[in-house]
Amino acid sequence: MPARKQPTRSTASRTVVAPKSPKTKPAARKIPTRSSGARANRNVAKASKPAGFEISERVKLQAVSRKRGTGYDYSRTRPLQIFTLDPSVSFLAGGSATVAVPFEQLRPGPVGTVFEIDGSRVPPELRKSVTTTLTLDLDDHALLLADGIAPTPADGHFHLQMCYAVCSLTYAEFTRALGREIVWASGYRASETEPFRLRVSPFALAEEKNAAFDQELGCISFGYFHAGENPGGHVVPKGLICTALSHDVIVHETTHALLHALRAQFAMPSNPDVLAFHEGFADIVALLMHFSYPDVVLEAMRASKGSLANASLLTDLARQFGQATSKPVKASALRTALDVSNAHAFDSDAFANGTQPGVDQPLQYDATFEPHKLGSVLVSAVFEAFATALRRRSARYYRIAGLAPDDLREAELSDELVRALAREATETARQFLTICIRAIDYCPPVDIRLGEYLRALITADSDVVSDDRYYYREALMRSFQRRGIFPDKVGFMSEDALRWKSPEQELIVPGLALRDLRFGVEISAPAGEKEMQRRAQALGTFLMQPGVAKALHLAPIGTPLPKNMTYAAPFRIESIRNTRRVAPDGRITTELVAEVTQSCTIMVGKDLMDFAGGCTLIINTAGRIRYAIYKSVVSDTRPKEQHDAATGPLKGFWKRSKGVLVGQTNMLMRLHQGRSA
Ligand SMILES: [Zn+2]
Repeated sequence: MPARKQPTRSTASRTVVAPKSPKTKPAARKIPTRSSGARANRNVAKASKPAGFEISERVKLQAVSRKRGTGYDYSRTRPLQIFTLDPSVSFLAGGSATVAVPFEQLRPGPVGTVFEIDGSRVPPELRKSVTTTLTLDLDDHALLLADGIAPTPADGHFHLQMCYAVCSLTYAEFTRALGREIVWASGYRASETEPFRLRVSPFALAEEKNAAFDQELGCISFGYFHAGENPGGHVVPKGLICTALSHDVIVHETTHALLHALRAQFAMPSNPDVLAFHEGFADIVALLMHFSYPDVVLEAMRASKGSLANASLLTDLARQFGQATSKPVKASALRTALDVSNAHAFDSDAFANGTQPGVDQPLQYDATFEPHKLGSVLVSAVFEAFATALRRRSARYYRIAGLAPDDLREAELSDELVRALAREATETARQFLTICIRAIDYCPPVDIRLGEYLRALITADSDVVSDDRYYYREALMRSFQRRGIFPDKVGFMSEDALRWKSPEQELIVPGLALRDLRFGVEISAPAGEKEMQRRAQALGTFLMQPGVAKALHLAPIGTPLPKNMTYAAPFRIESIRNTRRVAPDGRITTELVAEVTQSCTIMVGKDLMDFAGGCTLIINTAGRIRYAIYKSVVSDTRPKEQHDAATGPLKGFWKRSKGVLVGQTNMLMRLHQGRSA
């Protein structure tokens, strides 16, 4: 495995595409007005001079971030008790735990700098007086000494603590993997100088078997309902079920919000994979986070003899929620990572050794599936790769214990062995979670396909891990292949073919080399607003240089529009963020990740339709564009595919506005309507 070349400053001395001032003002280009049909971009700062590109308001937001002493302080923790899965799981099986939440000063609510928990509309069973709003002061001395409130579904204050703790832990996983704070794309704040806070309302939806993230408002609403007369599992007949007490539902919804913060343009329902990706990715994060609670993993490993295929406590999602809505004879979780019954089938090594296709075959990719079902194909692909990697890592422990890993029916596993297996599971899950989150930085800014997420996974991991000892990347490629998820335009399922490519010509963005950047109190802290604006300006100016837009597959400003395109908006700098990745060997990579988009109006058949393209740019310390991960606006296939989806399976997510097919707003709310989480 070749060691990854570290970008050095010396590359800056080579060819530079210099930012010569344009001879003709790009503003002279006839950029059609909005009345030509394209939907107005919201939150757009006034186009900077020279015209031809816009800077999203979100660029500035990245700077309005927490300063030391006002956000999470990752060097200190606040111990808080939570349900590790939900109230249905026995405390003996690790159903509760005290977790280390990053510390921050809180106001009663709790209200911090990232989340505000809103305890209004408490259900009657949880009211202690006539008041319908609860607040919790986690900085109260008695609670600080007691690690918060002990887990119980009967105390409404605990619901607030559970939401705050699990939301914060999920957020912390993302900041750890990406090496920066994440700034919400929407939310609540008292003044313009504050960052948005995500409002989380545990009791928002009375008698609704649902929870939802609202992209427009920036809030998460949880539902509660009463179980039937005869529910499954340990659910009390007619008992109160609160989705805000389900670890998985909280992580799932928080992940929706985080993904929206990182890729706001995935809000456009341009193909079925976009919706499936939102759902699948949220479930992947929830599943892998199960493994961060040592007691749950230990007990599950003990009960299943180290086999993930039998460890339903770890592989099921939202157990109580599912049981409350299922029949007693077949109490089941809401979703499970395992979609095949044969344990061997859930292992790409076993498949390679010859299992029977059709019998052991997992659910295959099918773009006509309902988005949650299509998302489950992605979940099962990632989870299979994880299970395969874990088996490879665990094999040596079985061998040391003199056991055959494939036949443990009669075997007695010693306590030491179970502990070692549990530690491996926790460590492997953490690595997979990191890979999955980092891959978001390597996704195109719009129109994601599941096959492209595979490419992002492979590139993200190979960028930091040159020594892939247990062949995680091979396991990922195989498990995606086994489900029929193939990236476009890739002839081989091999690492070199799947890795994103550098642009054909060397592109160095003046002003974005590490030596030109200004940081906050530390390298991952965003610089001030002025600096963020400067970076975006530098990138935008660079895009206007001759040949650059074309090299990045954008429609160049000042040239005739491509066939079928009736309007092309200026380039839009959506974001430009620092990333700091720590490799397992301790090396640290600092880069910039920028999203550039371009919205257009195109004609497909007789329909005018909104259409978007763009590219994600990974820029190294020398200012060189290492990867341009693009979705071309000049595409032969994408317009028709989008039109087919918008008039077919995704019809409910599109509407006609003034004769133009446009994506409906708040896709995730629509996606959750009538569905469960
Ligand atoms: Zn969802």
